[in-house]
Amino acid sequence: MPVRPPKIGGMSHPNPPQNKPTANAAATDAVKPSNFLRQIIESDLEKGTYASRRWAGSPGDAAHHASGQPDPAKIRTRFPPEPNGYLHVGHAKSICLNFGLARDYGGVCHLRFDDTNPEKEDTEYVNSIIDAVQWLGFSWAQPGNNQPYQASDYFDFMYRAAEALIEAGYAYVDEQSAEEMGVNRGDFGKPGVDSPYRARTPAENLAIFRQMKHGQHADGAMVLRAKIDMASPNINLRDPAIYRIRRATHHNTGDAWCIYPMYTYAHPIEDALEQLTHSICTLEFEDQRPFYDWLMACLIEVDLLANPPPRQYEFARLNLTYVITSKRKLAQLVNENKVSAWDDPRMPTIVGLRRRGYTPASLQQFAERIGVTKSDSWIDYATLEGCLREDLELKAHRGMAVLNPVKLVLVNWDEVMGAGHLEPCTQPALAHPPEGEPTPALRHFTIGKEVWIEREDFEEVPPKGYKRLFPGNKVRLKGGYVIECTGCSKDDTGAITQVLANVVPDTKSGTPGSDLVKVKAAITWVGVAGGVNAEVRMYDRLFLDAQPDAGGKDFLESLNPNSLRVLTAIVEPSLANAMPGQNFQFERHGYFVADRSDHSSTKPVFNLSVGLKDSWGK
Ligand code: ATP
Ligand code: MG
Repeated sequence: MPVRPPKIGGMSHPNPPQNKPTANAAATDAVKPSNFLRQIIESDLEKGTYASRRWAGSPGDAAHHASGQPDPAKIRTRFPPEPNGYLHVGHAKSICLNFGLARDYGGVCHLRFDDTNPEKEDTEYVNSIIDAVQWLGFSWAQPGNNQPYQASDYFDFMYRAAEALIEAGYAYVDEQSAEEMGVNRGDFGKPGVDSPYRARTPAENLAIFRQMKHGQHADGAMVLRAKIDMASPNINLRDPAIYRIRRATHHNTGDAWCIYPMYTYAHPIEDALEQLTHSICTLEFEDQRPFYDWLMACLIEVDLLANPPPRQYEFARLNLTYVITSKRKLAQLVNENKVSAWDDPRMPTIVGLRRRGYTPASLQQFAERIGVTKSDSWIDYATLEGCLREDLELKAHRGMAVLNPVKLVLVNWDEVMGAGHLEPCTQPALAHPPEGEPTPALRHFTIGKEVWIEREDFEEVPPKGYKRLFPGNKVRLKGGYVIECTGCSKDDTGAITQVLANVVPDTKSGTPGSDLVKVKAAITWVGVAGGVNAEVRMYDRLFLDAQPDAGGKDFLESLNPNSLRVLTAIVEPSLANAMPGQNFQFERHGYFVADRSDHSSTKPVFNLSVGLKDSWGK
C-alpha cells in the first residue's frame, strides 16, 4: 500500500500543527437546492451539536482528542470505499455528496480506505480510488496531513475496544456453530434463543478472546458477539458477531492478526476515531443504525470514544438505467472479456466515464441535479448524458468529421478557381466564444476540387422534404461555398462512387454577398487535400435492458451486441492535433473525445461521448 496515514492517536501522540480546514474543489456561489441532509447539517450547526468537539490533528480515542484544540472543521464527513475494485458512477455520487457537503459547510471530508476485510483489497484499486477522487476535483488534504486514512490502522484500537466491551459485560465469546447461531437468531416473527455461552463471565470471555488473538483456536471455531438483546425486533441487535478468526495475510498489517473485526463493528469505530459528525451511507444500512448508536454509547461509557459521537444518515443509492453499479458485477464484465478493461468507455466506472469523454464538471452537475432522497428510484441515463452535453456545449471545440464518406467532385473547380487551387477557410473553434474575447479562436482548413461528404447527404431521387444534395439542388458546404449538384457516378454494381456538383463562385462563407444565393441546407464536409483518416469508436449502451440486473436477472443476457462499432472516418486537420482526452463537438454528429490511451496525431482515435440533443434534420 503506497499511502501511509499518520499514526493514529491513542497509540502515539503526535503534536499536531494548528489545523484549519482547506477549501475543497471550487465552491460555486449558486444557491444549492436544499435536501434532508443539508437541513440536518444546518440544524446541527445552528444548535451547536458538535461545537464542543476537539480535534488532535489525527484520528484517535477520547484521550487523544481531548488533548487537541477545538475542531476547526465545522463538520466532518467521509468517503469510505473498500479498495476491492474500481469506483463507479454511484461512488461518484457519494464522493460529490460527502466532499460537497464538507466544502459547503466549512468542513472536511476524509478519504478512508475501508480495508478491514483481509482478503479482497489491492494496491491497484487504492491508487485508482485516489485518482478518481482527485480527478473529480476534491481533496481530503488538511494542514499537516495530506494522506488518506485507512481503517486497518485502527485494528489495535478495535481490539482494545473489544476487550473493554468484554470487561463491561457487553460482549462474549460464542462457540456455537454457524448453523446453530443461525437457527438461534430467530426471524422476524420469532425471538432468538440465548446462546449457552452467553452467561460466561467477563474474565472467562477475556481469557478466551485473548486465546483467539494469539492463534490458539481454529478459523471459525468461535466468534466474539456483542451482548445486546436476543429478542430485539431488530435482528441486527440480536447479539451480532463483532470479531471472527481468520488466518489471512492483510495487505497492510501482514500476518499481525488472525482475528478481524466485522464490518458493522469496525465502521462506527472508524467514524468515531476520525471525529466525524455526519456519517452518510446508503439505505441498506438503515437497520444497522441502532447497533451503530449502541456501540457508540458503550464505548463512550467506557471512556474510549469522545462525546458527542458521529451519527449515521442514510440516502438512496444511485440506480441508473442501462447501467450496473456493483463492483463485483463490473469485475465480471472485465474478467469475462465482455469489455476491454475497467476503463472501457462503455463501463460506468469513473475511469470508463473519463475515457468516454465525461468531465468532472458534468459528473458534479449530475450529482447535484439528482440530489439525495430517502427512497430508492431509478435515474434515467439521459439525465447523465444531458449534464455532459450542457458542459461540453460551452467548452468543446467544434470540428467537422465525415463518418461515412463518399467523394464529392466539384467539376467546374479548375475552371473557376484555378487548377489545383486550395482555398483557405476558417470557422470559429467555439460555438460560444467567451464574452469579451478580442479574437475568438479559429480553425483553419482548405477546400479544393474534391471533398468528402456523408453518403446520406446525397440522394439520386430525393424523398419528400429532402433538402440536401440531389441533382439540381443547391446546398452550402459549411464554412465553404454554395454548390449545385449535377449528379453522380456509379460502379458496375450501381453503387455511387462520386457525387458531382459545381461550385457557385463568390459564395464563400464570410465574404460580402456570400448569402445572396439562398440554400435550404448546409452540409458538413472535409477537404480531400487536408483531411486526416481517424478511427472513430461509436459507443452505444452496454445493455439493452433498462434494469439489467434488477430482481436477480442475469445481466449478461441483455448485453448489447452492437455496443461498439468502429468506423474509419475522415476528420478536418485541426482534429488530428487533438490532445489525448480533449473533448470536441463533431458538428451534427455529437460530442467526441480523443482517446486517452490510443490517440496520437499520426493515428487519431476518437470515442463517441454522447450524441447531440437535436437529431439531424432533413
Ligand atoms: P459495491 O456494491 O459496488 O461494491 P459498495 O457500496 O460495497 O459498492 P464501497 O466501496 O463499500 O462500495 O462504497 C463506498 C461508498 O460509496 C459507500 O459509502 C457507499 O454508500 C457509496 N456507494 C456505493 N455505491 C453507491 C451507489 N450506487 N449510490 C450511491 N452511493 C454509493
Ligand atoms: Mg462494499
